Amino acid sequence: MIERNVDLQSHNTLRLTSTANAYSRVDSLDGLSAAITFSQQENIPLIPLGEGSNVILQPTVDAHIVDIQLRGIKKIKEDDEHVWVEVAAGENWHQWVMQSIEEQWYGLENLALIPGRVGAAPIQNIGAYGCEVATFIDCVNYIHLDKVIETNLSQSVLTAEQCQFSYRNSIFKQSLAGLTVITSVVFKLDKVFSPQLSYPALKQKINMDKAGTIDATTVANAVINIRSEKLPNPDHLPNAGSFFKNVVANQQQLDALLQDYPDAPYFSYEATQTIQSAAKTSAYKIPAAWLIEQCGFKGERHGHLGMHEKQALVLINYSDQAQAKINASDILKFSNHIASTVQHRFGFNLHREPQTLP
Ligand SMILES: Cc1cc2nc3c(=O)[nH]c(=O)nc-3n(C[C@H](O)[C@H](O)[C@H](O)COP(=O)(O)OP(=O)(O)OC[C@H]3O[C@@H](n4cnc5c(N)ncnc54)[C@H](O)[C@@H]3O)c2cc1C
Repeated sequence: MIERNVDLQSHNTLRLTSTANAYSRVDSLDGLSAAITFSQQENIPLIPLGEGSNVILQPTVDAHIVDIQLRGIKKIKEDDEHVWVEVAAGENWHQWVMQSIEEQWYGLENLALIPGRVGAAPIQNIGAYGCEVATFIDCVNYIHLDKVIETNLSQSVLTAEQCQFSYRNSIFKQSLAGLTVITSVVFKLDKVFSPQLSYPALKQKINMDKAGTIDATTVANAVINIRSEKLPNPDHLPNAGSFFKNVVANQQQLDALLQDYPDAPYFSYEATQTIQSAAKTSAYKIPAAWLIEQCGFKGERHGHLGMHEKQALVLINYSDQAQAKINASDILKFSNHIASTVQHRFGFNLHREPQTLP
């Protein structure tokens, strides 16, 4: 059923006031086909939405918001070392991670408790605690919205390489932005567990909690504990997780920073320099949280908005508590102020992580 003038405040974790021209829930490919036909007939863009945990919704969304609720988890094939599993876009990410561990399919443990649905995971190549989802994606199935003719929904597929994954980025945020509905993701997971403990806080937590053999559940539980201690729950303090990406700097930029700030934190990151260039170059990540904290924003409130007291990277909408209404332009204004303060002091550009829609 397609509804008109729908309030999206409960459909985004920043709890922004926003009204969609049209809204529907889709739990089958036939339903998706009908939703696409409706958008074509009305001549309004179709925008897929998951749990709304990575979006900044404008007050008026002159579009058809399609809440993707396609479900299903299916093992496709296996060999001695790996298993290939197709997971529908509407499955909850965290529940899928926990199910994969139960099934003894390994790789996703470090990504436990990330909010959202499976279909959104490839969009920004979700990552946490030294892991990125791209490492475990075999291919992504999707509908190309410009190629749907009448009700004929032919699915397209991109291999992980074709998805052009990089740090919080993929082809779905670049040349295919706004053109796709991801229907399912095929994961290639390991049959033998090997812990990924490159992230110091995770390693420390596991060493503190457990001596002896480390299994996947131990790692997932440690990640869940760290996240619960550090990150505010959007149900109580509306937020979209990390609001800015970490800065990716080259050697020269890092050296210049360390000259002025010898204690500045950084870590090595092998990244493709541009999304077009396949050449790997050595690069460094500088935590955006540190840059923001240095500029005095950690725990600071500006009106009904502020950066969280425990995690300077998380922008909180406090207006729920004051019954005030905050919209996208308030968020963009505040975040631009932070970004320009950081740019002025350090010369680095901060880039927002959540997508502004439409
Ligand atoms: C408390 C908190 C912690 C977080 N921690 C992390 C973290 O550690 N690491 C990390 O990477 N992210 C993190 N995030 C961000 C967020 O959880 C992820 O980006 C997640 O993948 C978004 O999923 P979603 O279903 O909510 O997507 P939405 O916010 O609904 O959508 C995000 C974008 O994807 C598009 N989209 C959604 N579904 C589809 C689909 N099926 N097909 C095509 N396009 C689609 C939307 O149009 C939109 O542009 C965090 C967010 C919060 C609130």
